[in-house]
Amino acid sequence: MRVYNFSPGPSMLPLPALEKAAAEMIDAGGTGQSVMEMSHRSGDFKPIIEKTGSLLRELMGIPPNYRVLFLQGGASLQFSMVPLNLAASGGGPADGGRKRITLVDTGVWADKAAKEAAKYAEVNVAASSKDRAYTYIPAAPAPGADDAYYHITWNNTIVGTRWPAIPATGNIPLVTDLSSAILSEPLDVSRFALIYAGAQKNLGPAGTTVVIIREDLLGRAPAWVPAMLRYDLQDKEGSMYNTPPCYGIYIIGLVLEWLKNLGGVEAVAALNREKAALLYGCLETSKTFYSPVEKNFRSLMNIPFVPRETDPVRKAEIEKRFVAEAAAAGLVNLAGHRLVGGMRASVYNAMPIEGVKALIAFIETFERSLK
Ligand SMILES: *Cc1c(COP(=O)(O)O)cnc(C)c1O
Repeated sequence: MRVYNFSPGPSMLPLPALEKAAAEMIDAGGTGQSVMEMSHRSGDFKPIIEKTGSLLRELMGIPPNYRVLFLQGGASLQFSMVPLNLAASGGGPADGGRKRITLVDTGVWADKAAKEAAKYAEVNVAASSKDRAYTYIPAAPAPGADDAYYHITWNNTIVGTRWPAIPATGNIPLVTDLSSAILSEPLDVSRFALIYAGAQKNLGPAGTTVVIIREDLLGRAPAWVPAMLRYDLQDKEGSMYNTPPCYGIYIIGLVLEWLKNLGGVEAVAALNREKAALLYGCLETSKTFYSPVEKNFRSLMNIPFVPRETDPVRKAEIEKRFVAEAAAAGLVNLAGHRLVGGMRASVYNAMPIEGVKALIAFIETFERSLK
């Protein structure tokens, strides 16, 4: 029996995509091979990577002057690749010629991006929501006139916040970590210079990483930047400088096919809004739990909730019991991030609305059991 998996990632994938992968496991499209066994340079694999790329372009409305790369290393490697390619100095990592970047600190992932960028760039953390445990998105300060780029984390997976609007950065390239919200609702790609996302939330298997980069940003990496970490080289080689994550790219293709059949990003966004409205609505009236996130900044994808109980011992008991009993009822991975505690329901594109309704019914049953 399949469970409703509320994990923040790796997370649920659409059943039709998994079923197609299962059916093609040992013979993909009459080739007599699994996609895992194909030469990445063969005529069998080429249509797979091309289809995946063109579906992503179509679904996200990616303009023609942007390149789509399928890389490895997860979003975390992008914390290094972005500054290495866009801000590092020709003289080496710590050289005085390295450029300044502006970054808004909205949580753990933004902080990691800042710390990694600081190895290759001057990092100006222009605003932070750390003062209130990252439960809101601060107003976006203007970028510096000479900044190499401006970095935001669009959806903050751990605390469950999302930017309410795309900040205006003029001609300073806007870069975003879109790992936990890619394809969850329409987003104007042309407002960004670079978008990156680890695949394991809304796209496919962990490790595979999507980078969408405006072509004028290619070729800015100093010569000392390692080959594997260069956008220009990865682009020139069509994401095949080395063997790409072939199977991951194939699964992403199947997930995108499912999304297209569902009606595309607009259609899934309507479902995502409905799912989120149901769950936030339940928390609004719940006597046991509440959402700690300020209303204007609530994520559609990651919905944390904490007990109203303030006694720490009693609160920990409620959390432990909730997570265990929910798992026994087929609602798994509802524990909050180890850094923030509480509970968190991640309701990515592939989470059916029935899963959210089952969670709400469970919350109501649990509440009654407390009395
Ligand atoms: C999950 C996540 C990451 C880390 O992704 P990896 O692929 O594990 O490196 C980074 N940023 C955000 C916003 C995430 O949700």
